[in-house]
Amino acid sequence: MLIDSHAHLDFNQFDDDRDQVVARAREAGLSAIVNVGTDLGSSERSIELAGRHSMVYATVGVHPHDARTLSPDVLKRLAELAGREKVVAIGEIGLDFYRDRSPRDLQRDAFRRQIRLAVELGMPLVIHDRDAHQETLQILRDEEAHRVGGVLHCFSGDLKMAWEGIAMGFLIAFGGPITYGGGIKQQIARQIPLDRILVETDCPFLTPVPHRGKRNEPANVRHVAEKLARLRGIEFEEAAEATTENAVRLFGFSH
Ligand SMILES: [Zn+2]
Repeated sequence: MLIDSHAHLDFNQFDDDRDQVVARAREAGLSAIVNVGTDLGSSERSIELAGRHSMVYATVGVHPHDARTLSPDVLKRLAELAGREKVVAIGEIGLDFYRDRSPRDLQRDAFRRQIRLAVELGMPLVIHDRDAHQETLQILRDEEAHRVGGVLHCFSGDLKMAWEGIAMGFLIAFGGPITYGGGIKQQIARQIPLDRILVETDCPFLTPVPHRGKRNEPANVRHVAEKLARLRGIEFEEAAEATTENAVRLFGFSH
């Protein structure tokens, strides 16, 4: 069994074959897919998708790229949506100082307000952090995010940050980039405890080897788990089982 802990099947890249993509995921041995909302519309579409497919779960939240869209009304609507069936987390939320598509002050504000919502609701967080490692940690600390925990998705920090996240009750998620050759991510994937690791695709992006260059999809999470197993010198089944248990524990769904 395998779980893709971070997918964007609501994106238009899947408009022509969304149902087949979910079917292929099941054939590939996945038991669940967490479809992650990136703005209000995407959060609504994620819930809709979860309603149509038993293996799909949803999260609701506004991505830092869209931070400027988080009005008080949108926040209120997210709070309502968070109570819907099969909604398992708030996200993805965080900071993106690489693309800076929303002004940084608005990103910080949207991040904090959504952490507060998650804490209020007692739901875990799906965190996006790009080139904003220290500030992401600082805001998580300030807002006492350890009360709900969550996942540092597509982890790109250093080992010290990974340990700090783990100390705050967060899991560390790896995707396609750990298949791209040697580097810091691979070292971290080797060194942190297996019970703190999730695998994900972030599809349609970040396609793992050997499919790099093509659209990514949940079935490919197998290649991420295989790479994780090789890095740690364990059997594929052990990596698959552990990361599945970790996702079930974090998101609280049955598999
Ligand atoms: Zn994402």
